[in-house]
Amino acid sequence: MGKTRSYILTMLSGLCLFFIVGSTACTKEDETLYTEVDNTISIADGIVIDNGVKVKRPIFNFVYYDDFLKYIANSDHFLIVPLEDFKKTSSTDKVIISLRFDVDEDINAAVKLAYRNHKYGIKGTFFVLHSANYYGQMVETHFQRTSGKMIGPYFRRSDNVIFYLKKIQNAFGQEIGFHNDLITLQLLYGISSRQYLKDELAYLRGNNINILGTTYHGSQYCYIYKYFNGYFWYEYPDNGWNYEYITKGVKTIKIEKDYLENYGLYEGGRLGHDYYFSDSNFKNGKRWNMSMVNLDTVKPGKKVILLFHPANWD
Ligand SMILES: [Zn+2]
Repeated sequence: MGKTRSYILTMLSGLCLFFIVGSTACTKEDETLYTEVDNTISIADGIVIDNGVKVKRPIFNFVYYDDFLKYIANSDHFLIVPLEDFKKTSSTDKVIISLRFDVDEDINAAVKLAYRNHKYGIKGTFFVLHSANYYGQMVETHFQRTSGKMIGPYFRRSDNVIFYLKKIQNAFGQEIGFHNDLITLQLLYGISSRQYLKDELAYLRGNNINILGTTYHGSQYCYIYKYFNGYFWYEYPDNGWNYEYITKGVKTIKIEKDYLENYGLYEGGRLGHDYYFSDSNFKNGKRWNMSMVNLDTVKPGKKVILLFHPANWD
């Protein structure tokens, strides 16, 4: 009898444990789905990205994104081109679509989106943010013993960034562009933005990253000091903020500017689109997403840019 009771107690405590473990470990937001052939994506020695999908929200996840790609890739109504081809492409019977990705801080999510684009034979354009942590870090002014001089501040590039870009460009066939945060560098650190851009493009192109285009980043500092990074370009119109001079404390700083053609770049916002949708915009309090537009109703010949921020989708 004693033995039977202790057996039943053991069974019950086992069941309790099962319920406790089962109910905490398997909540929906913890669940990672592996929906692709590759559970991981290898970037370089020691750098591997988990290719799993977290379905925390009904729309902003990679399963929903994948369904969207399936829809546009299988429809005769659309012609999908990278931004480098957007301006020169026209059609009488199809809607021209470009998928633009402002990578901002999340390079892993960008790689996972690039992977999925590639699966459907879609070439999107990924604008890499040169002031992001994966790209490099700011080095403050310091004494350099070898030269006996004060050096800096300067932005020191990470050795790994090139591996991510090569993966996106070469393995997944996507276009890489330059996400411009240049005025921020000038404003915060006194870095010459023209020289910096020249150096970065030389580095990227020297490593066979084929940079043709740029888009500008809305840094938090843009809202504090009221400027658009697009103002680096003479071609960019005055949109009402500080177009030529920015006041920072007691200083007035003249914005360094240059022309797109001096760097062989196009600006992704100035390619002559008819429609532009962005997941950084909000409509009736909800983040814009593809369920809010019926692309089938867009007339042939029209040109559409869809802008995604990878971090919103992971
Ligand atoms: Zn940005």
